[in-house]
Amino acid sequence: MPRPLAILGSTGSIGINTLDVVTAHPEAFSVSGLAAGGNVELMVDQIARHRPSLVALSDAEAAERLSERVRGQNVAVRGGMDGVCEVATMDGAETVVSAIVGAQGLVPTLEAIRAGKTVALANKEVLVCAGELVVREARGQAALVPIDSEHSAIFQCLAGEDLSDVRRVILTASGGPFHGLSPQQMAAVTAQEALDHPNWEMGPKVTVDSATLMNKGLEVIEAHWLFDLPPERIEVVIHRQSIVHSLVEFVDGSLLAQLAPPDMRLPIAYALSYPRRLPMSQPGLSLVEIGQLSFERPDEETFPCLGYAYEALRRGGTMPTVLNAANEVAVQAFLEGTIAFLDIPRLIRASLDRHEPRPVASLDVVLEADRWAREITHEAVAVAADGG
Ligand code: MG
Repeated sequence: MPRPLAILGSTGSIGINTLDVVTAHPEAFSVSGLAAGGNVELMVDQIARHRPSLVALSDAEAAERLSERVRGQNVAVRGGMDGVCEVATMDGAETVVSAIVGAQGLVPTLEAIRAGKTVALANKEVLVCAGELVVREARGQAALVPIDSEHSAIFQCLAGEDLSDVRRVILTASGGPFHGLSPQQMAAVTAQEALDHPNWEMGPKVTVDSATLMNKGLEVIEAHWLFDLPPERIEVVIHRQSIVHSLVEFVDGSLLAQLAPPDMRLPIAYALSYPRRLPMSQPGLSLVEIGQLSFERPDEETFPCLGYAYEALRRGGTMPTVLNAANEVAVQAFLEGTIAFLDIPRLIRASLDRHEPRPVASLDVVLEADRWAREITHEAVAVAADGG
């Protein structure tokens, strides 16, 4: 029997790649539920191709339009975040793909965990803003399988290993489009230049995060929660080719790495078929054509966001929640052309400096810190936009 999936964020980059994997493997997967933001056209198309029984759009008005468009078809349409949570917990799905971008994926992902689903996690912000809570809820309840390529690499290297034999993990970072630029050169870069990633095709938010290196910072926090490692045992190296997706060093000094072409369908398929592997039609690597692999230390002075993430993780509590929320607001403002690229780290720094972290005792504490950080960062964006 094909494994039934619910996909949260089906119209985004990870969602589209997940449906690609489903289409290529009808014997392995079927689609029970889809949830997205407000993209009615693409959802109509996905319903026609994948025949889910339940779909939701978080934009309630868009959900009404969708309802009109698919009237008479055998699919229930829901609107709002409640509807998204209904998809996340639906009886018909065994695995939930969590691929909504940003902290708004938190509540539906938690609901899926509480419902005992296997969660294939692409949304790193869920672990950044509420890792303690998510890991606590998942313990003994639900399996959490990473989709993020670096974490998938580590997860693959750890197969059959004991976590207590790990000395450290090494996350690789492409360095993004602005690798090697000076701060003066970066002051004038545009959103369009930031969106031009050298190796990966991704959504706009994660692509800008790659350009600031915040993406790697968020992934350090994600690795901390997924693999139960302290920050000093999680390292980052710049690896421009994006071929080695990450490495694990064991106590005997052995390093294991996972290598593959940069194609998200591979870690998605692994997360969905784990512990088995699915045959993929894409060609593998030609090591001879690649020729050389390079590794270098990240430039934390020019790209301070990486250090901010380590700092937030060390300080703990709601500090990573604030880091994430400030980053989401700043990146959105940069994409809209409201602030400059270098305002992103500056605004994040200012939000961290104003925050007194609290222990993550409940979801409410997380949501309150998230709301507070969004509010003060929005205010700072307005000041920056006025040239302040
Ligand atoms: Mg990644």
